[in-house]
Amino acid sequence: MTEITEVIDAVETFETFEDLGISETILKALTEMGFTKPSPIQAQGIPAVMKGADVIGQAQTGTGKTAAFGIPVLERIDVTNNAVQALVLCPTRELAVQVSEEIGRLAKYQKGLRIEAIYGGDSIDRQIRSLKRGVHIVVGTPGRVMDHMERRTLKFDQVRMMVLDEADEMLDMGFREDIESILADMPEDRQTILFSATMSKPIMSITKRFLNDPILIKVVRNELTNVNIEQVCFEVKPQAKVEVMTRLIDMYHLKSLLVFCNTKRKVDEIVEDLQLRGYASEGIHGDLRQQQRSNVMSKFKAGVTTILVATDVAARGIDVSGLDGVINYDIPLDEEYYVHRIGRTGRAGMSGKAFSLVARDEKFRLKTIENYTKVKIEKGVIPSFEDIVGVRKARFVESIAASVKESSDADLYLDVLEMLHHSGFSTEQIVGAMAKQIMGVQKNEYSDSNLAWEERRGGERPERGGDRRGGERESRGGSRFERGSRFERGGSDDRRGASSDRFAPRADSRRSEGGGRDESKRSATPEAGMTRLFLSLGRKDHILPKDIVGAIAGEANIPGKTIGAIDIYDKFTFVDVPERDARAVLRAMDGNTIKGKPVQIDIAK
Ligand code: AMP
Repeated sequence: MTEITEVIDAVETFETFEDLGISETILKALTEMGFTKPSPIQAQGIPAVMKGADVIGQAQTGTGKTAAFGIPVLERIDVTNNAVQALVLCPTRELAVQVSEEIGRLAKYQKGLRIEAIYGGDSIDRQIRSLKRGVHIVVGTPGRVMDHMERRTLKFDQVRMMVLDEADEMLDMGFREDIESILADMPEDRQTILFSATMSKPIMSITKRFLNDPILIKVVRNELTNVNIEQVCFEVKPQAKVEVMTRLIDMYHLKSLLVFCNTKRKVDEIVEDLQLRGYASEGIHGDLRQQQRSNVMSKFKAGVTTILVATDVAARGIDVSGLDGVINYDIPLDEEYYVHRIGRTGRAGMSGKAFSLVARDEKFRLKTIENYTKVKIEKGVIPSFEDIVGVRKARFVESIAASVKESSDADLYLDVLEMLHHSGFSTEQIVGAMAKQIMGVQKNEYSDSNLAWEERRGGERPERGGDRRGGERESRGGSRFERGSRFERGGSDDRRGASSDRFAPRADSRRSEGGGRDESKRSATPEAGMTRLFLSLGRKDHILPKDIVGAIAGEANIPGKTIGAIDIYDKFTFVDVPERDARAVLRAMDGNTIKGKPVQIDIAK
């Protein structure tokens, strides 16, 4: 048993990668990757690991921890020796893939160096073939690594370095025994590096058993709570959280966003709710299969989905940086989680928004977080419906102006105005109706005054309009926020029209659930260029818009985002698809299944 010998705070330094004694080949790769300066965990971690010490890095994803261990690992590999010389253990397949890819990029100029990601869900035979050809660095999840150890397809007798990445996460996921067996199987004289965001008791016990005189390098807390992150909380009734969230997304034009909640069930609910409102969102949690997780992640990275809803556990290890914002749909149960969550935005000198939706009974948790992070979280004012219409209009005008300037084939449509004039409408009426249709503005089921909760009687009431912080925001940013401007209750359940990029007239901006409640609102004819199809499955078959998009896009091989309005009724569904693809969709879907249920499809009468 050995104790920590030295504790170093990872702070900003003036050192360059050259100062850290890194070889030319890696320096060249670093330049190509756009890394100009070591991050604090790299500046302190790389020299400690390179001198051969066992190191504990207390750092979360986003601090540059992968390169902090990846570079020294690469420095120690002898490519002429065909044996596995370094093993990196990661909690999830995503992280294993990311880490192996990042090390691969760092190793771009190290000829002959081979890295393999080994994780469950991938073909074991393929992995075995690859291991047989010879691999120098294995990055794997504990379960699959154990599997290979038992099959004797992975040998560790020549491992010099062992890295446990996100060790706290691996323990949380129940990998403790696997990790201990793997560590016990490693050569005694190997070097061990352990990264963990938290230094919990189980982590300390692992480090005591398996690390020799380790140095602890900590990314200090006030660095985790990044100064570039604007942290604001909104006091919201639980049932109004999705509504407030979509208003914030619209108001701040958030185009890449992580939404965090505390349970898997909530992830599914929020995703469904957002999709019904037309937002391109998907969820990620532990119940997804590997293939599903990869699909979700690649769509998010490609910008096809703009909102990723996740639990804390699922979000750990996924590498999504450069986000516009993070929304805490629920306030996390652990303060550290808050720090991890908001650290996903505002990276690398970019500013980001971290919005927390606080129900009354979550208020105390936010206080605990403020005490822990030593940062006062500003109280924000929920944008009113008028605000939302205002920003949508402004962006709509911008996008139309741009399209007028760019569009060379607009002449084709110039007679539309004349045709409508003939029908007796004024230009104002026509433009107004078109704008409404394209912007997707609908009356909303919530009135502005029904979104926020109010302090209990006798307590301080949330200030109306005169919110002190809101006032500050107003004077600084010129925001027109004003709480309480009422609008008539729409009285309908139609929640269409809120696409995350609604100002580009995208076809998928009008997905809704019909169910007969809103039949009068659904336009009788599809948009120009679209064909409406009838599907014989509906809400009774537990069909969601995403199932329909997934099935049609997958089977007919058309991009999901080109699929338009989807109206799901109890026993059937209408879906609009581009006219040019209608035949292909009919051919591909007729007699096919959605969610395992046979479907009949036809052009809607
Ligand atoms: P990590 O904490 O390893 O997950 O890294 C977070 C992100 O920061 C990844 O996208 C890295 O590629 C990137 N990154 C790591 N180190 C640096 C650096 N020194 N300069 C700029 N970006 C970096």
